[in-house]
Amino acid sequence: MTFVRHNMPRVVACMTLTAICALTLAVSLAGCDSGSSGDATRSVDAGAEVQADTTQGEATQTQADDAAASTEGEDAPESQDPNGEVDETQGSSEASSASVKDNRTPAEIRATLNITEDFREEFIHGEKPAEFQKYIVMHDTEGEGEASNVIDWWASNGNLVASHFVVNKDGSIVQCVPLDKIAHHAGFGDAGHNESYGVTDESRDDKEGTKPIGDWAPDYGMNSYSVGIEMVHMGETHEGYPEEQLKAVDGLIAYIDAYYGFQSDIIEHSDWRTGNSDCSEEFQPFLQNLQTTRTHDGS
Ligand SMILES: [Zn+2]
Repeated sequence: MTFVRHNMPRVVACMTLTAICALTLAVSLAGCDSGSSGDATRSVDAGAEVQADTTQGEATQTQADDAAASTEGEDAPESQDPNGEVDETQGSSEASSASVKDNRTPAEIRATLNITEDFREEFIHGEKPAEFQKYIVMHDTEGEGEASNVIDWWASNGNLVASHFVVNKDGSIVQCVPLDKIAHHAGFGDAGHNESYGVTDESRDDKEGTKPIGDWAPDYGMNSYSVGIEMVHMGETHEGYPEEQLKAVDGLIAYIDAYYGFQSDIIEHSDWRTGNSDCSEEFQPFLQNLQTTRTHDGS
């Protein structure tokens, strides 16, 4: 997900052993949702705080039921009618009213993706009906672990953070949160970003596991208005993004657009919170193409 650049040397040092990638991811995830205070101890401290606050058991059954119901929804998204519910006054995202580029049905697009569902109720933090969907937030995992391992780690570390989708380098995708549920992938944003992004700190978000990180980043609205896509990628390696992975992202965005019936604005995590490492520099041209054409190569 992310870590602040201040932590880079420690993370890079951890990369030398595959086994340590989990630790790297732990640092990343703690930073992703619990935010960054800009000091070297922040990530570890945030992780400890999150774990101490991991008392979400009361909601698990309901969430499990919701997740099961939503699974059906994922297979039949055309039953939704999001267009009529979009509140255009809420946001600065003009693209939200744009029509979808791909005229296939959501189910048809999803069928072209190598996507596996692995829903985990502990990642669900509230309802995100279509009228609240506004953004797609792109992330790097900042680790080399495959999607299934990433999700297992998210589930085991107690941080309660996750993105809706994780895209492997080979283009395979794992979805661990339904589209109409809130996932904690964006965390806290810069002061003023709730207003500038047209989001609000919603009561729909249970905020389990979250903790303020400082006056510079107090805004917590993005999770309630977005879908998170995580790409397996370690920015410091400058390896680039395989074409198979980028094509999978294209397909995923086409699916999300079709699912909602409009184009959500595509941003990267560092747009929401200054200093985030994701996405990496190598992704910038692809991000610009995605924002303008909905495909990484501008086609
Ligand atoms: Zn991130």
